[in-house]
Amino acid sequence: MNNLVGLLIAVIVTMFFVRRYLKKQKEREARAHEAVKKGSLRSDGPRSQHPHIDTTHCIGCATCTTVCPEGDVLAILAGQAVIVNGYKCIGHSLCAEACPVGAITMVMANPSMGADMPHLTPEYETSVSNMFIVGELGGLALIKNAVNQGRDCIDTIAMRIPGLRGARPAPDLLDALIVGAGPGGISASLRAIERKLNYLTIDESEIGGTVAKYPRQKLVLTSPVELPIYGKFRKTELSKEDLLSVWNEVLHKVDFKFRGGEKVEEIKKGGDGIFDVVTAKGQYRARTVVLAIGKGGSPRKLGVKGEELPKVMYRLIETDHYVNKNILIVGGGDSAVEAAMGLAHQIGNKVTVSYRKECFTRLKDRNEKRMEESMRKGKIQVIFNSNPVEFTEKSAILDVGGKLQEIPNDFVWIFAGGEAPTAFLKKIGVQVGMRDMTTEGSSEAKQSALVHV
Ligand SMILES: Cc1cc2nc3c(=O)[nH]c(=O)nc-3n(C[C@H](O)[C@H](O)[C@H](O)COP(=O)(O)OP(=O)(O)OC[C@H]3O[C@@H](n4cnc5c(N)ncnc54)[C@H](O)[C@@H]3O)c2cc1C
Repeated sequence: MNNLVGLLIAVIVTMFFVRRYLKKQKEREARAHEAVKKGSLRSDGPRSQHPHIDTTHCIGCATCTTVCPEGDVLAILAGQAVIVNGYKCIGHSLCAEACPVGAITMVMANPSMGADMPHLTPEYETSVSNMFIVGELGGLALIKNAVNQGRDCIDTIAMRIPGLRGARPAPDLLDALIVGAGPGGISASLRAIERKLNYLTIDESEIGGTVAKYPRQKLVLTSPVELPIYGKFRKTELSKEDLLSVWNEVLHKVDFKFRGGEKVEEIKKGGDGIFDVVTAKGQYRARTVVLAIGKGGSPRKLGVKGEELPKVMYRLIETDHYVNKNILIVGGGDSAVEAAMGLAHQIGNKVTVSYRKECFTRLKDRNEKRMEESMRKGKIQVIFNSNPVEFTEKSAILDVGGKLQEIPNDFVWIFAGGEAPTAFLKKIGVQVGMRDMTTEGSSEAKQSALVHV
């Protein structure tokens, strides 16, 4: 009798777990189909680093889809992980780290996807020998990637320097000139100090790079990363201000050789292999150059009448400076909707978003959900299929599906992306753009598109 009761309980418990498993499986599949639907709205695949799934090993456990901070880059379909929104991948690599069977490796996109990408070796060297590119300009976003690359690139340089220095001492000749003081440039500078290199870091702006330009109190998400001199940086969530103060503290303690407010305008390599670096304020000679200049470049303009008015801006830092205003945000990416939500939060603001497409297709999951809620509650009005045609002192005129609509307006922010510093790279001789796979020939060349990182 006891055995029978035991068996019955065991059957009931097993059925409970099986049903729960099947329910979860169903929910996961529904999410996957939703993600596929969203992904099919876009024709572009992964643009830089992204996961490569070895389907012979994938067990469909969904660990990768759960850890991805971007939400739905991957999905489980027919019991295996597949890339459904590749364009959303910005290289966190958490899926590869978390996969219990090692079925995921991070690879670079096919060069045809990276039309404005510089050609780099695995040591981050450009087509110009001894000129390196680290950080976002090389195709990988994220602070941790910039820090890792800046550090590793200086290790490569430090190994080459004895050979490059030769027998002639030349104190005015830099071992490395680092352009840019964002996370990539800071990490490279700190490593250069550790490696006792004669270096100089130059930035057209201030220390911190893109991070310094984030909106005030923006929450920065990062991964544990090894910052030279500082050691392991373990915080994964902190405010922009806190992150900048950590960097400033480290740089303050060391002899950081830095020139701010100085834009590098020209870099030429002489016959002797030495680089002549020209800025608006001076000229430098260096054995190697590290470009850590990010991808921000200059903000893309719309070319619309009235765009030169002081009320039209391209970067928002302090949302709380704006209250009781009519505000127009132009754009449909994460920066645009984050600015819109921040401004809609301030007292009395009436925020309108103008987006040229019929829906948002490239938002981070959390932004998409918050935006849907803001629209539902009437905090933000979004005008899809619209383009600004003119800004005046008191209004903005939009072309909405062929009809002109004038809305009262005090301030405009345009988030139309940045013009990547491609022209600068081409000017200094760095090869950029699609590789001709036909002349590179063979399946071997095509295979090399799958560069493991
Ligand atoms: C709104 C926003 C939010 C983000 N949030 C996160 C986040 O939460 N977590 C995360 O990991 N990443 C985030 N990122 C991405 C991250 O900020 C970048 O990937 C990172 O800053 C890239 O570092 P970098 O060193 O390559 O370049 P940057 O940080 O862009 O620094 C480049 C520096 O080079 C300088 N420079 C450019 N051209 C020249 C020149 N010709 N001469 C001299 N100096 C020059 C610039 O002034 C700048 O200071 C975010 C990006 C944005 C735009």
